[in-house]
Amino acid sequence: MVIKSKIKGKKKHVNKPTSKKYTKYKIEDGKIVSKARSCPRCGPGIFLSLGQGRAYCGRCHFTEFEKKNVEIKLEDKE
Ligand SMILES: [Zn+2]
Repeated sequence: MVIKSKIKGKKKHVNKPTSKKYTKYKIEDGKIVSKARSCPRCGPGIFLSLGQGRAYCGRCHFTEFEKKNVEIKLEDKE
């Protein structure tokens, strides 16, 4: 008789990561102020992830380029 040592059908319980949406907010004078910019398409609550001079929405894939960080490299040649 063979004794089966492996127990099948059991999954290891993994806790879900805590939502980090609260990190995007801060309270000033009793009002909730969002630190990050929200998506113009999805509305408030959906934040854009910032990186490399652009803002990206993970929900509707909206990408917004920041004009401040874009340097104009065209030089006038005379
Ligand atoms: Zn969006």
